[in-house]
Amino acid sequence: MSQPFIQVKNLCYSYQDDDGREVPVLRDLTLDIHRGEYVVILGHNGSGKSTFAKLLNMILEANSGQILIDGKDITSPDMTDDDVFALRRKIGMVFQNPDNQLVATIVEEDIAFGPENLGLPSEEIRRRVDDALEAVGMTAYAGHEPHRLSGGQKQRIAIAGIIAMQPECMIFDESTAMLDPSGRRDVIKTIETLNRERDITVIAITHYMNEAARADRVIIINDGKVAMDGTPNEIFSQGERLAQYGLDVPQGTALIHRLRERGISLDGDCTTPEQCADTICAALAGKGEK
Ligand code: ADP
Repeated sequence: MSQPFIQVKNLCYSYQDDDGREVPVLRDLTLDIHRGEYVVILGHNGSGKSTFAKLLNMILEANSGQILIDGKDITSPDMTDDDVFALRRKIGMVFQNPDNQLVATIVEEDIAFGPENLGLPSEEIRRRVDDALEAVGMTAYAGHEPHRLSGGQKQRIAIAGIIAMQPECMIFDESTAMLDPSGRRDVIKTIETLNRERDITVIAITHYMNEAARADRVIIINDGKVAMDGTPNEIFSQGERLAQYGLDVPQGTALIHRLRERGISLDGDCTTPEQCADTICAALAGKGEK
């Protein structure tokens, strides 16, 4: 396999508390992420997920350990301002509150903001804005005022603003947490499309297990380290271990586990609703029912 896009080695980070004491958050975090992966990071509140995301984008700087992005050591003291700028173009971040991420009064001006700051020719800016609007399914809203849009639409505009910078990787830090179910669905669909059709590496931090169920890979952070790392099926089949880390399994998975506990024989995966339906249908078909 080629060199990982992101290599994190023995990463440590502490905050200082009000008395100036070091409070360790990340202790010896080590992981690799490959180009094109769709990775969800889970962990209980305060487990260090956001801190990790901010270290990847150099909003924070590590105390020790190493982060290599595309082979370049971003924890090196030799990183220049230009290097940091290049890193943030390569790895875009979308945060929780869409209102804090929009800067202009018209949607297309908001999306043009980043490319304008790159000093690109106006035709190139136009092309990128149109492309980004299309990528998030918001072309019809180019001339709208962002503050009149729904939360999910605003978040898709924030995503478009990042897409216009042509990143190789996007980090979503609880980007669906403030949205209603339909806004959440639209944003997740957008994230999946960016990953599957545009090959953008996705790192999504979420509390929603149904969201995690759709990723290629799930990483659990606990006690500042990687506690579990596998496919959604591998991770969610270990409900008891997840409970130790303060995490649930998706609802469909929990239902299948309850049915099995009651002695009903159900073979098959049960991470996504589709898998649960297939597993139940297979059992019913085995009994000659439809
Ligand atoms: P998560 O994203 O998993 O909820 P965070 O990375 O936000 O966790 O926070 C990890 C820990 O660091 C928490 O205990 C939090 O209280 C603490 N923390 C986060 N930001 C700061 C800060 N700016 N100053 C001091 N402590 C912080």
